[in-house]
Parts: sequence; structure tokens; C-alpha cells
Amino acid sequence: MRIGILGAGQLGRMLALAGYPLGHSFSFFDTTEGAPCKDLGAITIGSFDDQRALENFATQCDVITYEFENVPCSAAHHLAQVVPVYPPPRALEVSQDRLIEKEFLQKLGVATPRFKGANSETELQEACETLGLPCMIKTRRFGYDGKGQRMVETDDAVSSAWQELGGAPLIVEGFVPFSGELSIIAVRAKEGTILTYPLAQNDHRNGILHRSEMPAPDVSPELRLAAHEIATKVLEELDYVGVIGIELFHVRGELLANEMAPRVHNSGHATIDGTITSQFENHIRAITGMQLGSVEPHARAVMYNLVGTIPSLAGLSSVANAKLHLYGKAPRPGRKLGHVTLLNPSAHDEHTIETLLG
Ligand code: AMP
Repeated sequence: MRIGILGAGQLGRMLALAGYPLGHSFSFFDTTEGAPCKDLGAITIGSFDDQRALENFATQCDVITYEFENVPCSAAHHLAQVVPVYPPPRALEVSQDRLIEKEFLQKLGVATPRFKGANSETELQEACETLGLPCMIKTRRFGYDGKGQRMVETDDAVSSAWQELGGAPLIVEGFVPFSGELSIIAVRAKEGTILTYPLAQNDHRNGILHRSEMPAPDVSPELRLAAHEIATKVLEELDYVGVIGIELFHVRGELLANEMAPRVHNSGHATIDGTITSQFENHIRAITGMQLGSVEPHARAVMYNLVGTIPSLAGLSSVANAKLHLYGKAPRPGRKLGHVTLLNPSAHDEHTIETLLG
């Protein structure tokens, strides 16, 4: 099939790399030249407001998917009039706004951090008072990798958070004293089969995912089932097709859903080397109507993001069972340039990688 991907970044690259062996071809639509995808198919550079450009792109595709969740909903709906768009555009509507997302989860009976919306400084102060300090104040839209959010512990900090973030509608969340951050990568096929990968345990640095281990250690069967049920509720409610990533806080044996990304997810990159079918291949299988592949792990896989700079390749390649993935992007502080996945690493292997990453 001819698969169109909205976005030409690293997730688009890894989707295409997984889809070519299945016989598909790929083209991309982005607002700027997407370096990671430049050798993997034609890239249409255009605006998501340009209906004609979108229609032209759609006529070249049998199915369209997206690799980032801030695709304007209007563009997704417009394309969906011409060709199937998966995941369904409603998944974008829900996940683009943190308040709508939390209300959606709450309606499904999925536990979340306590939250309240705030559109003025008074509402913000009231919300923080109701939820109790410390709180997390976040912009409702366009937040990622810890951007657009502040943790506040004092009334003064609430006022300054309003100065910094208050130009946009906000959501306030009670601070969750979690023992760990987990995520579940799930996939739903067109005919409704749902598979969930083992939970991943995630550690962040400066708001960006640093290390992700799959399967997460010390996860009870009950917790695994609870995460599977959360994913199932979300996927069924959205009549979803494709892969989703749901970030969870583990707090006192319970899971609270923090946010969901209607796309392949950074904490699922370990599936490329660590499971029988990667999240990327399963996404392609789902959107093209194939049966899903096994999500069984064949190793304990630990993924490290390469952020800002790429460490010595000689050093990386000296680590046993280290699988390197580079995205073809120019180095820049805070930019995800690649990842390395260690299979069944020893403590020494992990230490070597941590040292190389600095
Ligand atoms: P987010 O952009 O919502 O994924 O948040 C980025 C990071 O901030 C998360 O990975 C957590 O480490 C932290 N965080 C977000 N919301 C909360 C919360 N309500 N309580 C405690 N920590 C949070």
C-alpha cells in the first residue's frame, strides 16, 4: 500500500523502516524539510492549512497516519474525507488538550491525578487551593517533554506561574508522589483485536525521556492487567486503529493515567530490538488491515535516548548487545538524535552507556 505519514521526523522514519519489508511505500507531509525521512520517500512540504496541498497528498496515498499529535484536527478531518486516516482524528482532538484528555479518561473510569481547568489568575489560585500545594500547572495545549509546565509549592510561585504560562488556558494537577513512571504501548487492529506490550519503566532527565526499560521490573500481574484494562477502555472508546502510548504514574500499587499519545511512542522504541514485533511494525500492520504480530519480549531491553550530542560511536559499539539507531538529525541541545537499546545488559554495560552519555 502507499502509506502517507504526516510528519517527517524520527517516528516517521522508524515507521517507514518497519513498513518497507512488508512491501509498502511511503511519502511524508511536513511543514519543513524532515531530515530523518529524506531518504525514505518523497516529502511534501506544505502547510496543514493548505487544503489543496493536503488533497494532493491524499490522492497519492491509500491510507494516512501521523507521527506527531499536534497535527491540526481540521487537517486530519479534511484528509479523512479523501482516504482513511488512522488513528481516527478524534484521538487527536482528545489528546491535544490536557483538560479534555483528563475529562475523557475520567469518564471512562480511568484514574488520573486530581485536576481542574483555569482560565484566569483567580481561577488558578482557586484551583491550587482546592487541589492543595504542591501542584503541577500546565498549559492545556502544546506541551511536550516537560515544556509548558511548572511545579508550584508556594502561593507566590502560583502568581509567577500565571505570569509565565497564563497567556494560554491552563490545567492544574495535584502533585503525584509516584514511586515510578510507567507507560503502556498498545495496539488495536481494524477488526478490534487489542494487544499490549509489557509495561515500560521510564526515567526522565530535564523533562526528556532518558532511559526506558521493557519489561518494567517488579510489576505485579495485577498492575499489568490494570494497565491493559486502561488501554483497552481508551482504544475501544475511540474505535482506535494503530498504536497508542499511555503514560502512567505508579503510586502505592495503583496506576494514574497522566497522558496519552495517539502514535508510536518514545518509550516503545525498545520494542524494535526487544520484542518479536516492534511497535512500528504493529502500527503499520494495524493501519493496513493486517493481523497484529506478537508483542512477546525476547530480551530485557533497556533504551537510552541520545539527546543533544551523539557520544563516541566506538564507545557505543564496544558495549555488548547494544543496538544503535540514529535519526540523521543535526546535533542541537535538547534534540533527540537517536537511541541505543541494550539487550539483557549487565550493570557494567549500563554503567558504560551512562558514562558515555555523561
Ligand atoms: P507531562 O508533560 O505531563 O508528561 O509531564 C512531564 C513530567 O512531569 C512527567 O513525566 C512527570 O515526571 C512530571 N509530572 C507531570 N505531571 C505530574 C503530576 N501531576 N505529579 C507529579 N509529577 C508530574
